[in-house]
Amino acid sequence: MRTVFIKDFTLPELEDWVESIGERRFRARQLFRHIYARRVQSWNECSDLSKMFRVQLEFGAQLHALTLRERVEADDGARKYLFELHDGHCIESVLIPDPPRQTLCLSSQVGCALGCRFCVTGRLGFKRNLSVAEIVDQVCQVQRDQPRLTNLVFMGMGEPLANYDAVARAMQLLLDPNGLAFSHRRITVSTAGLVPQLRRLGQESPVNLAISLHAPDDALRNQLMPINRTYPLAELLAACRDYPLAPRKRITFEYILLSGVNDEPKHARALIKLLHGVRAKVNLIPFNPHPDIPFQPPAEERVLAFQEILQRAQLNALIRRSRGLDIGAACGQLAAQYSLAATY
Ligand code: SF4
Repeated sequence: MRTVFIKDFTLPELEDWVESIGERRFRARQLFRHIYARRVQSWNECSDLSKMFRVQLEFGAQLHALTLRERVEADDGARKYLFELHDGHCIESVLIPDPPRQTLCLSSQVGCALGCRFCVTGRLGFKRNLSVAEIVDQVCQVQRDQPRLTNLVFMGMGEPLANYDAVARAMQLLLDPNGLAFSHRRITVSTAGLVPQLRRLGQESPVNLAISLHAPDDALRNQLMPINRTYPLAELLAACRDYPLAPRKRITFEYILLSGVNDEPKHARALIKLLHGVRAKVNLIPFNPHPDIPFQPPAEERVLAFQEILQRAQLNALIRRSRGLDIGAACGQLAAQYSLAATY
């Protein structure tokens, strides 16, 4: 029997699989309950299953897709989890407590191919996509530590829409009332702007949307984010306008402020023009300096001036400080150090 990762399966797929090994289809629901509601850590804990079935599971089905290698807690309470995958690659997930919210930031790829100039993960290059089980297991493993996760954001390592199929299937499990039972209002996908996949997401699974914007015009965005040459701002904003938002929801536009690059009043004014007519809120994030990245954070007064220009134009703009800086939780840094150390 071929070994499978059990968290790769949606419920109908698990029903097919249990049938293929000679069990009745309803066993799949029992397994789902054990895995996602009871959160068992070994097949032996599933005492209502026959011994024979448990032996088959033991030899044919991996319950976990990730191994926890490190858990670090920052002074501000953010927790970073470093996970090893079965092939030795590492990814990270970051828990951001902000009571009553407990938000988990998920990775979707090992590294990233998009090469944004300000991003540590981008410098790693692309290694591979995560599987459905590797995405879902980040939630399951962190739930052992923090059972009351409230929100999930695809904002860790990788571009989630570049791994569309696995992310969409993982979301089926995250949203399934028999699975992890999150509401679609509690899940956010953040993208650098893969327009065709963004439109597909809106049609198939309209969760909350965040756009990594970081520049208000094509010339600057082309320099900072090479993906903009494929999908320029006009196409990206058109897809945002068409995105089926839930009532009272807005699209979040992330804007990392880089000193002397995109933080001048003219950039703020261009941003207002760009987002005109979009149900938008803007997160202004002063850059978190890193020795390998050639940018600096702006001075505090420049950040405040930028925010004020947006607010005066009735654009909802909040300043977001990176959480977990003392543990390198911003921007894939722990995995970057770990992976680079392992690779070179
Ligand atoms: S910012 Fe996001 S899309 Fe850009 S390189 Fe980093 S992980 Fe990839």
